[in-house]
Parts: sequence; C-alpha cells; structure tokens
Amino acid sequence: MSAAMKDRYGRKIDYLRISVTDRCNLRCRYCMPQEGVSAWKPGQILSFEEIEEITRAAVRLGVRKVRLTGGEPLVRRGILELCRRLAAVPGIQDLSMTTNGTLLSGMADQLYQSGIRRINISLDTMNREKYQEMTRGGNLDDAVMGIFAAARAGMNPVKINTVLIRGFNDDEIRTMAELTRRAPVQLRFIELMPIGHDQELGKRGWMPCRTVLEQLPGLTPVPSGGGVAEMYRLPGCRGLIGLIRPVSCRFCGSCSRLRLTSDGYLKPCLHGDDEISVRGFHGQELEEKILEAAARKPACHGDLTERAVQLRRDMNQIGG
Ligand code: SAM
Ligand code: SF4
Repeated sequence: MSAAMKDRYGRKIDYLRISVTDRCNLRCRYCMPQEGVSAWKPGQILSFEEIEEITRAAVRLGVRKVRLTGGEPLVRRGILELCRRLAAVPGIQDLSMTTNGTLLSGMADQLYQSGIRRINISLDTMNREKYQEMTRGGNLDDAVMGIFAAARAGMNPVKINTVLIRGFNDDEIRTMAELTRRAPVQLRFIELMPIGHDQELGKRGWMPCRTVLEQLPGLTPVPSGGGVAEMYRLPGCRGLIGLIRPVSCRFCGSCSRLRLTSDGYLKPCLHGDDEISVRGFHGQELEEKILEAAARKPACHGDLTERAVQLRRDMNQIGG
C-alpha cells in the first residue's frame, strides 16, 4: 500500500468524496432544480462493484478517508450494502456520510452497524415553514428526528451543516447555536457558494461567516483538529460551533480531496468543470486515472466573491 498520493503542489490527497446518486427526496433551492433530475439511462450510474473497485484503487494510492454523499445518499437503493462493502476495505480509516437526515431516523442503527460512525446532517433553519420553503417540500421534524437518531445510534461526532443565507437564516444564528447547549453536536456554518442551481440566490443570499462572530461575541476559539472549519465554543455549551469559509477565506492550500460523481468521473476541484472518466478502467490503468485527477488539481479555485461560477453540474451532481 502506497504511503501517500501527492498533487503537483505537494498537497497530500487522502480524501475521496463519493456521490452515490444525484437524486434527492428534497429540492433545496440553492442546490438543484425543482423538477429534479432526468431519469438515468440503464447503466449510467456506477454500480456498487464499480464504486468499490475505484475506492480500493484510491486506497492503494493513499486515500484514507471516504465520505458518501449525493444527491441524497439514503435514497440510493441498497446503500447499507455499499456501506458494508466500503467499511470492509482495508486502509480506510474513516467512513462517513453527508445526508439531509430526513430518512435517517429509521436507518441510523443499521447505518452505524454497516460502518458509518460519523455523520453530517444538513439543516439550514429550525422553522418548519422556512424549511419547507427552502427544501421545496421537506419536513423539518423528519430532519430533527434524524439528528437525534444518529446520536442515539452512537454516531460521533454528529455534525450539523448550516448554509448561511442572507434574508433567510441570518435571524436564526443564535437559535441554531443554542443546539450546542442542548446536545454535544458540532454545528458548522458554511458560506453559501455561488455555484449550484440558483445563481441569483447564490449572489443575493451570500453572507460572510464573520456575521456569526458578530452575532455571537461569546464564541471562544478552540483547536480545529486540522479540518476545514475554524472551531469555537459558547460558554457552558457541550457542543462546538465551526465556521467554514470557502468563499471569503480560501482553504485550497490544504485541500486533500478528490470527488467521484455518480456517473463515474473524478473531479479534481469542486469549483471547476474539469473531470476525468474512470469508468471501464481497472488495475494499473485505473490507478493512473486517479493519479491524473490528483495531478490536475488546480492550486486554487480563484476568488468566488467576484464571479458566480456556472458549472456544468449542479451541486446535487457533484456532492457538495
Ligand atoms: N443531500 C445531502 C445533504 O443535503 O446533506 C448531501 C448532498 S448536498 C449537495 C451536500 C451539502 O452541500 C449540503 O450540506 C448542502 O447544504 C450543501 N450545498 C448545496 N449547494 C450549496 C451551495 N450552493 N453552497 C453551499 N453549500 C451547498
Ligand atoms: Fe438534496 Fe442535499 Fe441538494 Fe438539498 S442539498 S437538494 S438535500 S442534495
């Protein structure tokens, strides 16, 4: 097993994010179109065998962390089997998932038993009407039940991802932060990225993570543990608050990620259209394709504040 895959800027590439489907049971306005995605042609989506083969090759090259995402990973039929298969790959030290949580309450125990020990759940508001409006029909209670079910199942940490949206949840920062008093969760505020489906919302709704620091002056910095989030704690709270600033403060210098789309392309960078097809390759040829994707990682995605980036794929097709 190789020690580490490096890109041409010397960054260690040890993190693979796998989009297992671009379908979703929600339709978040900043992420995907109301009409959803067009039906897959037979064989267009990677099979579990293909995902496992690509993952094993990436692990041989040095990948140690794998995250399943989407679309909504829990709508992919047989997802527990995929989790079990990947959890059994020697060399993966960390297998996790990002989900909207709405289907989680009935699956959390099985997911845990299938090898998912850490989970990120997306939740942008604690208001039922606003949740329904932003997700175009989702039920807040389902997502909240999912969060509790994940914690009860033993997942640790449970992280809650909140995309900051001006005019939508800037009045809820304090309420959301209170979650860290009630439970030992990590609440991470993420800047809305001007990519994905609704470019207008991306521009109009963007606000900096700085707003959180202004609204919560009691936040005290704590060590970040090497992740992309700057970590803080409110006095007397069990949980932590993280700030992720993909737009206002770039973290490209420490980017360790490759992204695999559900139709078999590796994306060197979330914010670019470059992609390398890895489908149909095996053994050494497959490894060469993965190394090519790592080699094609740009030094930096450029300043996202100055331009909205129109990508070929919406966020639900990339994996966020
Ligand atoms: N369906 C799952 C979920 O919502 O957690 C996983 C896929 S979703 C594409 C992954 C993450 O991307 C979510 O936390 C979502 O809020 C985030 N996301 C989608 N579009 C975004 C955008 N334009 N800016 C910032 N985050 C975005
Ligand atoms: Fe679905 Fe996640 Fe996109 Fe919302 S952010 S539409 S839950 S894939």
